[in-house]
Amino acid sequence: MPTVPSDPSTDRPDAPLAPAAPLAPAAPLRGADAPLDALRVRLDGRLALPDEPGYAAAQPWNVAIPVRPAAVVAARCPRDVAEAVRFAGEHGLRVAVQRTGHGALPLDADDVLLVHTGALTDLQVDPVGRTARVGAGCVWQQVIEAAAPHGLVPLCGSAPGVGVAGFLTGGGIGPLVRSQGLSADRVRAIEVVTGEGRILRATAEQHSDLFWGLRGGKGTLGIVTAVELELLPLREVHGGAVYFDGADAEAVVRTWARWAPSLPEHADTSIALLQLPPLPAVPEPLAGRPTVAVRFASVAGDDAAAALLEELRAVATPLIDAVGPLPTSALGAIHADPVDPMPVHEGHALLRALPDDAVDALLAAAGPAAGSPQVIVELRLLGGALARAPRHASAFCQRDAAFSLCTIGVLAPPVAEAVPAHATALAAALEPWSTGGRLPNFAPSPDPAVNDRCYDAPTRAHLATLAAQHDPRGVLAVGQVVRSGAPA
Ligand SMILES: Cc1cc2nc3c(=O)[nH]c(=O)nc-3n(C[C@H](O)[C@H](O)[C@H](O)COP(=O)(O)OP(=O)(O)OC[C@H]3O[C@@H](n4cnc5c(N)ncnc54)[C@H](O)[C@@H]3O)c2cc1C
Repeated sequence: MPTVPSDPSTDRPDAPLAPAAPLAPAAPLRGADAPLDALRVRLDGRLALPDEPGYAAAQPWNVAIPVRPAAVVAARCPRDVAEAVRFAGEHGLRVAVQRTGHGALPLDADDVLLVHTGALTDLQVDPVGRTARVGAGCVWQQVIEAAAPHGLVPLCGSAPGVGVAGFLTGGGIGPLVRSQGLSADRVRAIEVVTGEGRILRATAEQHSDLFWGLRGGKGTLGIVTAVELELLPLREVHGGAVYFDGADAEAVVRTWARWAPSLPEHADTSIALLQLPPLPAVPEPLAGRPTVAVRFASVAGDDAAAALLEELRAVATPLIDAVGPLPTSALGAIHADPVDPMPVHEGHALLRALPDDAVDALLAAAGPAAGSPQVIVELRLLGGALARAPRHASAFCQRDAAFSLCTIGVLAPPVAEAVPAHATALAAALEPWSTGGRLPNFAPSPDPAVNDRCYDAPTRAHLATLAAQHDPRGVLAVGQVVRSGAPA
């Protein structure tokens, strides 16, 4: 793989930035009064104020989240990101980062610049070294398409439209998490702009503190501009989903809850209670009715995988049975997550076990007779390779959870008000089996109390210490960041 990044400023990790244009005021203007035009001329990319073209890039995938920064900086190169961060530091502003807005955070502040990474789309695959250098503007689908012709695949998430950098900074659990481990464990290098505006390349050997904290710590320690990651030599899995009628949900869920923990490590699975809307994109047997999907992926070969699934297939007659040999370029088909932007509410918890009592509680709150307003109530089986200590430690905690629970509800009439309350009630019903922890990717929140649940105390403390070192002015102290080591 070419090791020369496309932007020369990242080629020299600690390179000084181009001289900043002189700022007019002797005493810098602060906050909302900052002279943003002075930043505008320092950028290769575009700066957009609320009434200017380009500001709409702030609109996130989750359109329920208001994202209204003072300005949007559409970065075209790492230096643009550094210029924005330096400018913010000089003028008492803060800087948030967004790509797709799948994990968007509310932002309505005239002292925050939003760096949008969408134009950082450099993507190079090294088929011999089985690695890829991926600009922070790429989404998984682009990496999948670039790697597939070489028989390679990235360890992506369930939804190919999610941003690579946002996903990996949260650790990242995908449809192969048990057999292949945490996605962030496959990261070799991270190019980042720190809160001081330094452009650095972090690896296990170089700026290893940043390398540790950027894998799991979300945007706490910097704005990622590119990552280098390992690709898997895997053309095909045995995978997909089996969909059952809602009337069979109880039997399917009960069987899955006993069957899933017995699976060997080569097999991944999740189950989703679905209430998909009657839209053209939804297959007719699944539209406008309660159904349940058992998702599955095995890397052990077709015969071994199919044998494992026999017990599940025997529970009831499927509406759709779409498990079989699956090219890894189509891994997104396993979960078939929603693609188009929509107003969603996400709920999340991690469970340490799923005994019969927990299944009772789940079905009482979210089974087909429960009147659940959620579109998706999903349980993913964790464990396997995820649970093992990685080669290089990271800020990702939560390796000991057995299941991840997620809800997705649409914040639109007539269920808009019921969705958040129901998610809270479901989490409360399963609280006896909760680890208390959260996956950073599934708990987007600016609330420190929520964010703190993503990390154990030593990790929180170390992240906060590193953040103070790399961002002494707190320029990046906005959004899903850890700035205090105090326990939740
Ligand atoms: C439908 C759906 C399916 C999902 N499936 C999975 C899944 O299978 N596994 C999983 O682990 N997660 C999953 N997620 C969660 C997803 O990984 C997170 O929401 C992730 O943060 C999205 O990244 P993004 O850049 O697309 O989103 P954004 O909303 O643009 O970014 C979210 C956050 O990521 C951080 N971030 C983004 N870019 C950068 C950057 N360049 N540098 C530093 N920090 C950055 C920031 O904290 C930012 O606030 C899913 C989410 C949805 C909505």
